[in-house]
Amino acid sequence: MPEVRTRIAPSPTGDPHVGTAYIALFNLCFARQHGGKFILRIEDTDQVRSTKQSEADILEALSWLGLNWDEGPDKGGEFGPYRQSERSDIYKQHVDQLLEDGHAFHCFCSAERLTELRKQQMADQKPLGYDGHCMHLSEAEITEKLNKNVSHVVRMKIPAEGRCIVEDMLRDDVSIDWQQVDMQVLMKSDGLPTYHLANVVDDHLMQITHVIRGEEWINSAPKHLLLYKYFGWEAPVLCHMPLLRNADKSKLSKRKNPTSIGYYQRMGYLPEAVCNYLGMMGWSMPDERGDVFLRGND
Ligand code: GLU
Repeated sequence: MPEVRTRIAPSPTGDPHVGTAYIALFNLCFARQHGGKFILRIEDTDQVRSTKQSEADILEALSWLGLNWDEGPDKGGEFGPYRQSERSDIYKQHVDQLLEDGHAFHCFCSAERLTELRKQQMADQKPLGYDGHCMHLSEAEITEKLNKNVSHVVRMKIPAEGRCIVEDMLRDDVSIDWQQVDMQVLMKSDGLPTYHLANVVDDHLMQITHVIRGEEWINSAPKHLLLYKYFGWEAPVLCHMPLLRNADKSKLSKRKNPTSIGYYQRMGYLPEAVCNYLGMMGWSMPDERGDVFLRGND
């Protein structure tokens, strides 16, 4: 078996979230259990929302919790750079390859057309998503628009029918109809990749073997698995963890509970206690004892 490599891939867009620490903890433990490596990658492709301050705060918060990574933007490593904003050329090459192989297409649709389309789909109670309009443009039309610098994005092609089976380490097979999957934008009009493209390319190039992340990403898994197939790569093992929730079972949100790691630090919680609590959210002792670190074996 190749060396186990896991990662935490936060987007630096706000206060370091306890959900990030929770997912980091499981990735770290899994890597350590198998004598592997745990990587920190900063997913800052959203140039408007990402800030340096948030990145620094995330690194500091994870360090405070003792969730130490082996490779990352501050530590370097064999597979860097570990900040997506420094990897634009890599994504561009990969998008060009998908276009060349006919797995992706240029889309010149205006925001107005897309809004209109959405309204219509809602009125007709049809699934929302791109209708493939630009997929049928001729080579000549595409070249003309590109030469005229018409603003565009690149979208991936999605099978028109059938279903995708997502094998999940925790849930076994999850089946999702391709009709429910949108022709995802891979590259935005500013030439930067979306999360989906950058995430798949980086997980492959950084040799990530296990992707352990929150269950909110499970609906994205078909797109990711299809991208691996388009590139001819083996996909990592996927594991979607249950989300942290408020007492009423809704997704943990700062309107109902403090979600910032810094809050717990300021309130005087010990980092071990926070980690212990987060660990209990996804794991329990075989005899269901609840307090592993704090009370020991009594
Ligand atoms: N950047 C994504 C996030 O902020 C990473 C999701 C993943 O692990 O694939 O949660």
